Amino acid sequence: MASNVLEEIKQKIIKKLPDEVQLANIEFEGPEVVIYTKNPDIVADNGDLIRNLAKELRKRIIIRSDKSVLLPYDETIKKVEEIVPEDAEISNITFDEVTNEVVIEATKPGLVIGKYGVTSREIVRKTGWAPKILRTPPIRSDVIDRIRNTLMHNSKERKKILQTLGARIHQGGKYPNEWTRLTAMGGFKEVGRSCMLLQTPNSRVLLDCGVNVAGQDDKTKFPMLGVPEFSIQDLDAVVVSHAHLDHCGFIPYLYHYGYEGPVYCTTATRDLMTLLQMDYIDIAHRENNPLPFNVKHVQKMIKHTITLDYGVVTDISPDIKLTLHNAGHILGSAMCHFHIGDGAHNMLYTGDFKYERSRLLEPATTRFPRVESCVMESTYGGHEDVTPSRNNAEKELMKTIYKTLKRGGKVLVPVFAVGRAQELMIVLEEYMRHGMIDEVPIHLDGMIWEATAVHTARPEYLSKDLRDQIFHMGRNPFISESFNKVQNNAERKQIVEGEPSIILSTSGMMTGGNSVEYFKWLCEDKNNTIVFVGYQSEGSLGRKIQKGHKEIPLEDETGKTRVFNVKMDVKTIEGFSGHSNRRQLMEFAKRLHPRPDKIITCHGDPYKTVDLASSIHRSYKVETKTPLILEATRLQ
Ligand code: ZN
Repeated sequence: MASNVLEEIKQKIIKKLPDEVQLANIEFEGPEVVIYTKNPDIVADNGDLIRNLAKELRKRIIIRSDKSVLLPYDETIKKVEEIVPEDAEISNITFDEVTNEVVIEATKPGLVIGKYGVTSREIVRKTGWAPKILRTPPIRSDVIDRIRNTLMHNSKERKKILQTLGARIHQGGKYPNEWTRLTAMGGFKEVGRSCMLLQTPNSRVLLDCGVNVAGQDDKTKFPMLGVPEFSIQDLDAVVVSHAHLDHCGFIPYLYHYGYEGPVYCTTATRDLMTLLQMDYIDIAHRENNPLPFNVKHVQKMIKHTITLDYGVVTDISPDIKLTLHNAGHILGSAMCHFHIGDGAHNMLYTGDFKYERSRLLEPATTRFPRVESCVMESTYGGHEDVTPSRNNAEKELMKTIYKTLKRGGKVLVPVFAVGRAQELMIVLEEYMRHGMIDEVPIHLDGMIWEATAVHTARPEYLSKDLRDQIFHMGRNPFISESFNKVQNNAERKQIVEGEPSIILSTSGMMTGGNSVEYFKWLCEDKNNTIVFVGYQSEGSLGRKIQKGHKEIPLEDETGKTRVFNVKMDVKTIEGFSGHSNRRQLMEFAKRLHPRPDKIITCHGDPYKTVDLASSIHRSYKVETKTPLILEATRLQ
């Protein structure tokens, strides 16, 4: 039956295609239907034809040149260099053999596109390859280069993966539409290891698959994949809301145990998630605490990942269409909208979200075509979770830094590599440029630099203000000369013995990493200050210092444990969080349009999850649920 459905779609398309298309083949590749033509002119001017076909079939349709009309690599590079004006400053040309695209990186991408796309069309006509045009990023990202290499060197395998998946997605449904349910497998009435299974009549989809980095053993660290309704072999897709490890850290495990299906997320999430998973594996290895998966499985995940832009509706299984929307939490973070079985049910999973404009990102989306049920986070859902405004938080931070530098001290800020670090970088750069704090070096340690490189390579995810600043005012705060990438231990020594400065270092909760080393060097001088800007979980060293412990036993440089006397100033500044505070969560529930019939709260301490749910129920007359892990909720 399955192949009949595919054949039917093919025949429909063939009938609609005019002769000049010179059809070579039609293939189902992942969520897309791809038409291969022997006439590159059609690829250059496909606009209306594709739009009409896509509308009629309600599928994503792509037109590509057939292999037989593609120029060899060297001739293509020569042609591209002939066609594109030199001012474009091309920095790199590579080829994607899955999509038959020539990837052109240039300092001025507008010149590769040309007026009304005239230059890029010329490239297709002359070479057969469709140009994919990227801006040369100001900082090279190792992780993005690594992902590109993996995809390039495995193009045959990647194509096969997409074709197998295409056949699965576009085949008709197996069962009559009956019910939809959601099983909590992690991150309900707790923070960490977010994971849930969405079952529809014709699909099984996992939403997030994270780890709890503060978990003590395998029982509390990883999601409960042992529930009877879950089996890796029956899984159709994994959808990832964002790159934090508590939402994606356990995905490589699925590939270790036989998962062959796709992961859907934004491009920025794929890049950052790869970076954080690699680091997680690396740290676990160094601490002699190996994980049940390794780098090979991250590679396998990369090959199976399908990236989606915000707002693009995509078939991910026979009866689910997925659309990602901005969540305002970190770069690439998404709210995931599921349109199930010809509109029988619509579910929104918010992931972590911030319903307020930040320096980095636009606020989370609140308008959707339809929403019957919504699963929302409640990290700061307790009614006492009022945080100061961003403006006040920034002022407080500046005052603290100003005072510390004036008395000749150093400021240490332990931060998460992704999100908070870049927010602070923008704030510090601006205040320094305006002379509000002294111009001192800002040292970036740990993975902050690499995470920042991903931010500069994916500017399309940044807020409009920040993009305007970068592209129209020519001022990219991330590449300011005030920032210094710390390279090694010798440099660290120089920093702590040197002039006043600001140090941003991972890990954010001081559960390891260089922030702990800096602390040991700096804590016994009363001129220095440590500033906490993010959540410190119970049991972490960060929490202990924050609470005011003055005598902290830690290993010194010789490996012996000694007591460190905390004489430095200890400050906590709230208001920089990437999560919505209580007021913003309530406001989101109020503004969410259309209003859902049911709201399920997750991702929060038990009391906060319940407090938020009952307030939403009382204020907006919406049915609310607060499931525990292992509990399932029927949605339809
Ligand atoms: Zn998060």
